[in-house]
Amino acid sequence: MNPSRRQSLLSLLTLAALPASAQQARPLRVVASFSILADMLRNVGGDAVDVTALVGPDADAHVFEPSPADARRLADADLVVVNGLGFEGWLDRLIRASGYRGPVTIASAGIEPRKFGKEPDPHAWQDLTHARRYALNLRDALIKASPANTSYFEQRAAQYVAQLAALDHDVRNRFAAIPMEQRRVITSHDAFGYFGAAYGIKFLSAQGLSSHSEASASGVARLVEQIRREGVRAVFAENITDPRLVERIAREGGAVVGGRLYSDALSKPGTQADTYLKLFAHNAGAIAASLAPRRSSR
Ligand SMILES: [Zn+2]
Repeated sequence: MNPSRRQSLLSLLTLAALPASAQQARPLRVVASFSILADMLRNVGGDAVDVTALVGPDADAHVFEPSPADARRLADADLVVVNGLGFEGWLDRLIRASGYRGPVTIASAGIEPRKFGKEPDPHAWQDLTHARRYALNLRDALIKASPANTSYFEQRAAQYVAQLAALDHDVRNRFAAIPMEQRRVITSHDAFGYFGAAYGIKFLSAQGLSSHSEASASGVARLVEQIRREGVRAVFAENITDPRLVERIAREGGAVVGGRLYSDALSKPGTQADTYLKLFAHNAGAIAASLAPRRSSR
């Protein structure tokens, strides 16, 4: 082994052996726009950050209406982190109302967005390779806000990125066994375009990119027809939207709602999708289970 390579290996080993501890008296106050970003920030920031989410578990960021308490939270923040890609339409007004003048980090920066007509699709977190970009953007923003913790954030981000990569590998393996023509899923709103592109699944939805948009009668009829004609078995409700629309579509098509996907928010603490990694594993597992070829009934 050449000396420089040995040296870099040694420094890696030393780094790994260092106790992971934050280097400042007061944690950085970070406000995240929604629960998924807040969880990523806690993973990368550890004890060096105190994170709050404006839009909490099971809540819908598309239709969020900030309160005066949210403006006060922003006013006290050291750092504000948002998804970007048009997801937080209420943000600029909230920042103006709060008087916050600190940095605003766009977690999705550097990701080439999918487009819906002219509109970017904001749901980029629904692809684990994009989540890696989020984690690295968050790491860089935290380092800038608290340079004393540079190695702490680097170490934690590297661990988190490794977890994301391992899960991505598992998810790909899980879907590999499912025939392409079966990979069709119906959901309430178009939150899974990135998931579909990453893992080769076609998502059909009753509403558009925002849960706020109305489902058209013709759109609903088309989905019902698709369930009947193509035998789409995977129909899912979402944690942030009213399940009645997909329930109706499933019923009229002769299918059953196969459970719930976590689209734009985590579930409540202590429940099955209360971290981003758990959310993703749950969604992928539920979709794969509903698409898997059925064994003949006994
Ligand atoms: Zn959405």
